[in-house]
Amino acid sequence: MVMLVDDQPIVAERVRMDLLADPSIDFHYCQDPADLIGTAAEIRPTVILLDLLMPGVNGYDMIRRLRHDPVTSDIPIIVLSAREQVDCKAEAFARGANDYLIKLPDKRELVARVLYHSRAYINKLQRDAAFNALRESQRRLEQKNFELMKMSNVDGLTGVSNRRHFDTLLAQVWAHAHRSQSPLSLIMLDIDYFKYYNDNYGHLAGDDCLRSVAETIREQLPRATDFVARFGGEEFAVVLDATDAQGATTVAGRLLAAIDGLAIKHGASPIAAHVTVSLGIASTVPQPGQQPKILLARADQALYEAKAAGRHCFVNGNGMPGTMDTAIP
Ligand code: GH3
Ligand code: MG
Ligand code: MG
Repeated sequence: MVMLVDDQPIVAERVRMDLLADPSIDFHYCQDPADLIGTAAEIRPTVILLDLLMPGVNGYDMIRRLRHDPVTSDIPIIVLSAREQVDCKAEAFARGANDYLIKLPDKRELVARVLYHSRAYINKLQRDAAFNALRESQRRLEQKNFELMKMSNVDGLTGVSNRRHFDTLLAQVWAHAHRSQSPLSLIMLDIDYFKYYNDNYGHLAGDDCLRSVAETIREQLPRATDFVARFGGEEFAVVLDATDAQGATTVAGRLLAAIDGLAIKHGASPIAAHVTVSLGIASTVPQPGQQPKILLARADQALYEAKAAGRHCFVNGNGMPGTMDTAIP
């Protein structure tokens, strides 16, 4: 699509005849340059043929205006002028023209130049569109990857971190505690007699119970650096950064009480009328050569002791057992 801007209809007629000889070229004549940009926005030319000398209009300024408007900034401009001086040509190119033809050029030269600039512009538009599509698909891919990464870190049933993510997070917290030589605690929490719960109320009710317990644990961990993960079937692991045995014992007591507070009916439990949990606590300041698994083993041992002590209680790996009724050391 060629747009000719020229005040002389006779020139326009000649150019129209020359261009229409090529069936791939459409032609639009714009006699009044006042609304040049508006017309360009409407007809979307791929080349602008521009006269330099028009009444009341400075052709060079018009080139600059076309270059500054986003609608026309990249459209090739071929100046069509009677002025043959090199200074005029240089000025037109300096303002942003792409080509300069002396009025009136040979028909074959005009068509050849119009086609050359049109194709270059269309190629550029296609490249830009392909680039934008690529950028958009990259953006969507990144978004999907982010969602996948989140999904792969999350336990599908409860929405808390899964075991895989737990390993990663624990390693990070461990490394930080090791660097800063600050304490770090781990609480293993296991639902008491959960097999009976499932047997009694069914697996779906069991799933609901797991969700409620997970949500309650999460609510009890307001610090951004603390986190809970589903460690196994009905077992949760809570990591408390910068927290010593005493702090962890306080949190364990809070968790025990909060889950009691849910008052989930458990008619098959030998020890209570509602769902209860047992907790094992281990705390350490990581030493050189030590691995996080030492903390896991100690918390697991403490949990075993809490079960052996009758359940519905917590045991601190340092030997500080407690229940809801005992004073928290
Ligand atoms: P204890 O007090 O010694 O911990 O006894 P328990 O019955 O809780 O422990 P046990 O390990 O014998 O049973 C765990 C039960 O947890 C058995 C299993 O069916 C149930 N469980 C594990 N994962 C899920 C789950 O995703 N959904 C449901 N509904 N139940 C689960
Ligand atoms: Mg259990
Ligand atoms: Mg268990």
